[in-house]
Amino acid sequence: MPKRKKYVYFFGGKKAEGKAEKKALLGGKGANLAEMVNIGLPVPAGFTITTEVCTYYYENKKKYPKELKDQVVAALKKVEIEMGAEFGDPKNPLLVSVRSGARASMPGMMDTVLNLGLNDVTVQGLIEKTNNPRFVYDSYRRFVQMYGDVVLGLKPVHKHDEDPFEVILEKKKHDNGFKLDTELTADHLKELVHEFKTAIKEKTGHDFPENPMDQLWGSVGAVFGSWMNERAIVYRKLNNIPAWWGTAVNVQSMVFGNMGEDSGTGVAFTRDAATGENVFYGEYLFNAQGEDVVAGTRTPLPIAKLNEEAPVIYKQLDGIRKILEKHYKEMLDIEFTIQQGKLWMLQCRVGKRTGFAAIKMAVDMVKEKLIDKEEALRRIEPNQLNQLLRPIFDLDQKRKAIEEGRLMAKGLNAGPGAASGKVALSAQDAELMAANGDPVILVRIETSPEDIKGMDASEGILTARGGMTSHAALVARQMGKVCVAGCGALRINYRERKITVEGKENIVINEGDYISIDGSTGEVIQGKIETKPSEVIQVVLTKTLEPKQSDTYQTYESLMKWADSYRKLGIRTNADQPDQALNAIAFGAEGIGLCRTEHMFFGGDRIMSVRKMIVSETKEDRKAALDELLPLQREDFYGIFKAMNGYPVTIRTLDPPLHEFLPSTEKDIRELAEELNIPETKLVEKIHSLHEFNPMLGFRGCRLGILYPEITEMQARAIVEAAVNAALEGIKVKPEIMIPLVGDLNEFRMQEKIVRRVAAEVFKEKGKKVNYLVGTMIELPRACVTADKIAEGAEFFSFGTNDLTQTTFGFSRDDAGKFLPLYVQDEILPTDPFETLDKNGVGELVKMGTEKGRSTRHDLKVGICGEHGGDPSSVEFCHKVGMNYVSCSPFRVPIAKLAAARAVVNELTNKHKPTVRTKKKSITKKKVAVRKKAVAKKKK
Ligand code: ADP
Ligand code: MG
Ligand code: MG
Repeated sequence: MPKRKKYVYFFGGKKAEGKAEKKALLGGKGANLAEMVNIGLPVPAGFTITTEVCTYYYENKKKYPKELKDQVVAALKKVEIEMGAEFGDPKNPLLVSVRSGARASMPGMMDTVLNLGLNDVTVQGLIEKTNNPRFVYDSYRRFVQMYGDVVLGLKPVHKHDEDPFEVILEKKKHDNGFKLDTELTADHLKELVHEFKTAIKEKTGHDFPENPMDQLWGSVGAVFGSWMNERAIVYRKLNNIPAWWGTAVNVQSMVFGNMGEDSGTGVAFTRDAATGENVFYGEYLFNAQGEDVVAGTRTPLPIAKLNEEAPVIYKQLDGIRKILEKHYKEMLDIEFTIQQGKLWMLQCRVGKRTGFAAIKMAVDMVKEKLIDKEEALRRIEPNQLNQLLRPIFDLDQKRKAIEEGRLMAKGLNAGPGAASGKVALSAQDAELMAANGDPVILVRIETSPEDIKGMDASEGILTARGGMTSHAALVARQMGKVCVAGCGALRINYRERKITVEGKENIVINEGDYISIDGSTGEVIQGKIETKPSEVIQVVLTKTLEPKQSDTYQTYESLMKWADSYRKLGIRTNADQPDQALNAIAFGAEGIGLCRTEHMFFGGDRIMSVRKMIVSETKEDRKAALDELLPLQREDFYGIFKAMNGYPVTIRTLDPPLHEFLPSTEKDIRELAEELNIPETKLVEKIHSLHEFNPMLGFRGCRLGILYPEITEMQARAIVEAAVNAALEGIKVKPEIMIPLVGDLNEFRMQEKIVRRVAAEVFKEKGKKVNYLVGTMIELPRACVTADKIAEGAEFFSFGTNDLTQTTFGFSRDDAGKFLPLYVQDEILPTDPFETLDKNGVGELVKMGTEKGRSTRHDLKVGICGEHGGDPSSVEFCHKVGMNYVSCSPFRVPIAKLAAARAVVNELTNKHKPTVRTKKKSITKKKVAVRKKAVAKKKK
C-alpha cells in the first residue's frame, strides 16, 4: 500500500512535527510556530494544513484531498489532549483560531478568524468555566463579526463602504453614550451577537453556522480562498511571490488577551526595524485581542512601558527575544499574548526592515559574532544601499521652516529619509499625481492593503493613526519609502480634502499642497524643504563630515570592505566629466567603462562647432570645424585622465545619429545660418536631407567615422594628445579607445587603422609614447556571432547592452514605452529588459560573444557598460559569464560592488548545498495555464 500523504502537521507541548526549514510546505507561520515549540517556547498547541493542500484545492475545483479530513480530526484530537479541552464540548470547549500563512509573509493580505468554536451552547460552558461573561461575549461577538466578514463575505469591497458589523457596533455605543468598545457590558455584547447574526441572515439568507466543525471547514476554505483575493494578488505581484506557492492554514488553540487587565496582546521587533539599533522595539495593549494593536483603532503602548507595568512578563519576553535571536541569528518580528499573567508566543518571523536597518543589523551581527561576513553580504539586497545614500533635509531650510512655525506635528519615525511632495489624500489620487510627474506624499488616517499601489507611487507616506508596526509602517519600510506614522495631531478630512492640525488653527493643508516629512525623526512640516545628501555622501563626496562622526558611514565602510574582499568583478563607472569620475572614484570605482564623447559636445559654444561640422559640404569645411573642437576635446580628456590617475579610461568615439545635434527651433536655425554665412533656406534643406526614418539603425556608430574619417582622426588625436600631455606631467594613463556599433571586423579595422596612425603621429610629434588599447563596443547581434573574428582586431570588448537589447529584441528604446509596461504587467516578459538583462536572449548573445572573443584572444578584456552594469541581478550574470568588470553610473558603484560580492557568495553557497530537485515542469505548465486565462480575460 502506498504511504499516505501527510497533509497535516501538529505542533504543541514539547515537540512539533514541523520545523523552520519546512517553510515551503508549512508556510512561514506554521514552520516557525513548530520551531518555537521545538526550542521550548510557550506556544498554544495547534496544527498546520500544508500549502500542498492549497495547490491541490486550486487544481481540483476547490476540493480537498480525500485524506485531509481524517488527518485534521486526528490532529485536532491531539490539540484537545494537549490543551485539556474539547472542540465543541458544551462544558469545556476548545476555541481555535484559523490563520493563513504563506511561505513569504504577506502582512494583512489574507484573513484570520479568531475564537472559532463558539456557539450558543459552548458560550454557556465557557462562561461557567471562566466566570467572565463579558470576556466570553466579547470573544463571541468578535468571532461572529470575523466569520461574517471573512467566511460569509460581508466585508465591504470598497474603501468607502461600511462594514455592516461596525455600523451596528457604533450604533450600540452611540445609543449608550459610550466612546470605547471596552465600555460595553456583557449584556450589550450579547445583544450585539444576536444583532450580528440577524444581519448575516438578512444579507446571506443563511443562519450563522452553529456547528463548530462547519465553522472550522468554512474558515479553512476562506483562508485558501483569500490566497486569490485581489489584495493578495497585487501584493504578490509587487513582491514577486509566485501564485503556485499557495498558503498553509494554521489551526491553533486560542489564548486570550481580552480576559481583563492582567491580559493583553502585543507585537515587537527584536531590534529597531527602522534604524537597526539593537534595542527591543514593540507595542502592546492590555485587555485586547489579535489585531487590536495593529488596527490603529487604539493607540498602543511602547514595549518599554511593559517593563514598568508588568516587569515579570517583560523580563520573560526579553529573555525570549534573546533566545530567538540567538537561535535564528536574525532580527525577528514577534506576536505574543498574555493571558491572565501567562505569556504565549503566537508568531515569529524574520522582521521586515528598512534597507538602512538591514545594513546596520547585518554589520552589527558580524561584530556580535552572530553571523559571518558571507552571511552579512547575503542578507543585504544591493538596492537597499540606496537607503544609506538617501537624501536628508537641508538642515538650514528645516530649521527655518520650524522657526516660521511650519512644524505641524510629530509622528513616529517609521521609515527613514526625507521626502517633500504634494499631498494626496487617497491612494488613487497618489497614483494619478505621480503619473503626472509630481512628487507625492500620501496622507491617510491609516492605510490598508488596498492602498499599496498608491503607496508605491508616493515618495513618502504619512498616517494619523497606528504605530510602528501599523500597516503603513511595515509596508513603507519594505518598499523603502519615507514614512511617518501615527501622527495623532493631524485632522484629516477626506470630504473637504484638507488637513488641519489640532491646536494649530493657522495651518491648513489642501490636497495638492506641499508638505515635507522626515522619516528619521517623525517631523511633519508644512511646505517644501530641499533635501540634501545622506551622511555617507557627506563623508564620501562633499567631505563635509568626518568619518568618525558618522556611525552610518562606518557601517557603510565595513560593508564595502567585505564586499571588496569577496568580489572578483572590477567596478568601473560611466562618466563623461572629471567631476563625475571623481565621485565614482570616491565610491570606489576602478576606472571608466564608458566615456561618451558626444556628451561633451553640448557644453558651452561647442555645439556650434559641432553643427558646423555636421552641415559642412566639403571635407575642408568639416576639418575646419573639427579643428575648433580638437582643443576642447583634448582638454576634457586631459581632465579625465588626471582625475582617474592611472585607472583605465574607455573612451568611445562618436556614436549618435547626427540629427541629435542639429537645431530644431527657427531661432537656432537662423543663428546657425548666420554663423555659417549661408542662406537659412539652404540650411533647412540640409537639415531635411539628414533626416532618417530609423535613426537608431541609421547613420551612427562607427559608420560616422567610416564615412567621415576626419571625425575619428580628430577624436583619436584629442585622446592621445591628452594622454601624452598627462603622461609628460608624470600622471599614469591607460587610454582605451572604443569603436562603437561594430558588426564586422572590417568596420573595426578601418577605424583602428586611423587611430593607430594618428597615435603614431602624436608620439612622434611629442617624443613620448603611452600604452593604449583599441577595442570595440559589442551592441549588435552580428558582433556577438562574429566575435571570434572581431577579436582578431579588438583588444577589448565592452558590451553595450542598451543597444544590444534594442537590436536583439527589435524594440526601439525610445518607443518601447508604449508597449513594454504591458509586456511586464501581463508577464509576457518577466521584467523590463532595459532594466534587467534578458538572460535567455540578450544574455546568451553576451555569453557567446565573450566565449567566441576569448577563443581568439584568450586574455580579451571584457566588460559591460549598459545600464545593466548597475542592476544587481545583471551584475551577477556578468560575474557568471566571466567578465572582467561592470561599469555603471557613479551612484550605483556601491550597489554594483555589493552585487558582485554576492555573486561570489552565492556561488560558494551553491557549492555547499546539495542540489535540490525542483518541480519545474508543473510550474511552467501552471504558469502557462494562468497566462492563457489572463489572455482570454483580456480578449473579452
Ligand atoms: P496575520 O498573518 O495577518 O498577522 P495572524 O494569523 O497572525 O494574522 O492573526 C491575526 C491576529 O490574531 C494576530 O494578532 C495574532 O496574534 C492573533 N491570533 C491568532 N491566533 C491566535 C490564537 N490562537 N490566540 C490568540 N491570538 C491569536
Ligand atoms: Mg500575524
Ligand atoms: Mg550604443
